[in-house]
Amino acid sequence: MKPLSIEWLREDGEAFSQEISREYYLAHSGQKPVAELQPIYQRHAGVLGPDALALTVDAFRNAPENSEERRSARLLVEWQAEAQSARQLAELDEREIAWESSAVVQVTDTRAIQFETTSIEIANSTDPDERHAIERARAALMQRELAPIRRERFQRERDITEELGLAASYNATFELLSGVPLAQLRAECEQFLRDTQALWDDTLPEFAKRVLHMEPAALTRADAGALFRAREFDAYFPGNQMEASIRKQVREMGVDPLAAGRITLDTGDREGKRSRAFCSPVRIPDEVYLVLRPHGGQSDWMTFLHELGHALHFAYMRPDLPFEFRWLGDNSITEGYAMLFDHLLKDSGWLKRYTELGASALPAFVRSMGFEELHFLRRYSAKLIYETDLYGGAVRWESLPELYVERLSTATGFRYHHADAFVDVDPRYYAARYLRAWQLQALLAETLVERYDVDWWRNPRAGPWICSALFGEGQRELAHEQAERVSGKALSFAPLVRAIERALA
Ligand SMILES: [Zn+2]
Repeated sequence: MKPLSIEWLREDGEAFSQEISREYYLAHSGQKPVAELQPIYQRHAGVLGPDALALTVDAFRNAPENSEERRSARLLVEWQAEAQSARQLAELDEREIAWESSAVVQVTDTRAIQFETTSIEIANSTDPDERHAIERARAALMQRELAPIRRERFQRERDITEELGLAASYNATFELLSGVPLAQLRAECEQFLRDTQALWDDTLPEFAKRVLHMEPAALTRADAGALFRAREFDAYFPGNQMEASIRKQVREMGVDPLAAGRITLDTGDREGKRSRAFCSPVRIPDEVYLVLRPHGGQSDWMTFLHELGHALHFAYMRPDLPFEFRWLGDNSITEGYAMLFDHLLKDSGWLKRYTELGASALPAFVRSMGFEELHFLRRYSAKLIYETDLYGGAVRWESLPELYVERLSTATGFRYHHADAFVDVDPRYYAARYLRAWQLQALLAETLVERYDVDWWRNPRAGPWICSALFGEGQRELAHEQAERVSGKALSFAPLVRAIERALA
């Protein structure tokens, strides 16, 4: 075996990442029955071994504060630390996946449904009693069988991370390696929940009564599923026009939507294709796949725009950036670009030009999008606050379910279940990446309006700027650094609150 060096780690790390990415792409797009990951892990065992971690930790400790080497090394340690914990948690994760794909929820003596389809069944049911019955049966099963696996998973993840000895606690280690100021973000979430409480209290009852014919006091999380499933606008988003309309818009913005063949769009139906859309960067920037299985209507458009934001980001990254700036880094950046694109569905001008929404349906649609946005932001804010308690260690594990129900129910107005306290958690603070992405896209959109006008999305000068000033940089910067460089402003919820207030006015 070659002696370990950072250069070797970059080279073999990239080969390993490409092989894993290709395997997932083939399996999840239905071109291969299963992903064969073990042989890849064996071929690249050195990349993810304890020596590789030690090497990166050394590089990190020896690099001068604020230097480019330090930035590189931080990304490499974060990657290595995650890989160590993923390897030790693999057995628990496999148990969880096996349970989820085989579990059956017994709703009544005569009705049983697959655990995996319960959220779809709940969202599609128009009868609140039926929704609540499925939800109760699902929660009882999860409480007995899934919650203990998940709780053990988070306990072990916290221990493994703290045993690395890089910082005093899980949260301090996360802040050190990710560069995300967690405590500050939590305070911003608390402030956001306070600032939008009155607006939420005014809006939720109106939608609950109109769409679900329910009083707000009776709402549970099951009803949220049904409420946001509402398909009253689907006819304005025809499936057969989606790809052509959106590709046209990207061309009008001065960008080749297929990046000279580096992006492949795989949007047809295929047996075995995952129902959840994804973007697979197999070689960055040369080979990027956007995979979507069509379901019809508005949600396909939203998903396609989101994944296209990711695909364009990967395909327009500068090829000379080192491995860590193309493959690793702060995912708030790539999620921010994905959201910059999916938020076009909240832009009246864009909707008028590229969809079938006419002047009569437009105001109601924009209003319902504002309502949905406020709900998701309040839910994610409450999740982040709760997750800092879960990982923080000051609250006992036994007390967390009560705290979860209290925080999520209060923030959203929908009653949550104790059984979800360890299930409805994004490992390693992915919720923080989303929240910062939300903040970033709002600032980027404001900057684009200032530079290229309200219809920047069809200004042929806007696209080339986005490609070079934003996409080209890969994920070298942290989201707050990019916000500062591009807009001269700090990340915050303020522009989001302004946009939501406009939509709901
Ligand atoms: Zn995404």
